[in-house]
Amino acid sequence: MSLDALRLTILSLLGLAVGSFLNVCVHRLPRGQSLVRPGSRCPQCGYELRWYDNIPVVSYLVLGGRCRACRKHIAVRYPALELATLALFLLHGAVFGWTGLLAVRLLFACAMVVLFAIDLDHHLLPDAITLPGIAAGLLFSLLLPPGLVDALLGVLVGGGVLWLIGEAYFRYSGQEGMGGGDVKMLAMIGAFLGWKLVLVTLVLSSVAGSLIGVLVIAVKRGGMKYALPYGTFLALGALAASLAGDQLINWYVSFY
Ligand SMILES: [Zn+2]
Repeated sequence: MSLDALRLTILSLLGLAVGSFLNVCVHRLPRGQSLVRPGSRCPQCGYELRWYDNIPVVSYLVLGGRCRACRKHIAVRYPALELATLALFLLHGAVFGWTGLLAVRLLFACAMVVLFAIDLDHHLLPDAITLPGIAAGLLFSLLLPPGLVDALLGVLVGGGVLWLIGEAYFRYSGQEGMGGGDVKMLAMIGAFLGWKLVLVTLVLSSVAGSLIGVLVIAVKRGGMKYALPYGTFLALGALAASLAGDQLINWYVSFY
């Protein structure tokens, strides 16, 4: 096996295994449950999954998307999240190569996947991820891009901008607009990606939010109340910024 094929295989298997663990995080973190014990169970009948029921994607296909014990449907989002994680691992491998930065950005990507899914389910961005995330991003920046100064500025810009918007909205309307979780998440994104890419993240997530917002309004005819939580757009924007933000900045600057 050539080195590249070997690395591809390692990244694929790792992506699937990690994706399976991220499913556990998404399910248990908001409920305050342990990530290691007990083993996985069917949420419908409590059947304790054996190792061969728990092979990412494969078990889902073999079991025809149903629990072995009660034959009730297993949500398709479990294998979908595993496949998405696999795709992210391969994309990151292609962008960053076999480097230290690859490991750091994969860790970041995993955090974004978990925040995306938990915000979608519970409208919640747990401090248990964002606060250690800020510290970890700053720590890694001591050795790797974007560097400590850029990372510190990223925390200030990311956290500060959203905090100001939230404050202004609150003063103006008397309602809480942006949750504190968004502010901490954006500070974490700044710590990992630096101040430039945190701005790219803000732009990308706003564009995605507006597009989907318009789409929803068009389809649901004025269903303004329906809103995806902002953290899901931040996660998507941050992943895109992490993978392609530098190219986007260069492309934008080339017009001047
Ligand atoms: Zn079951």
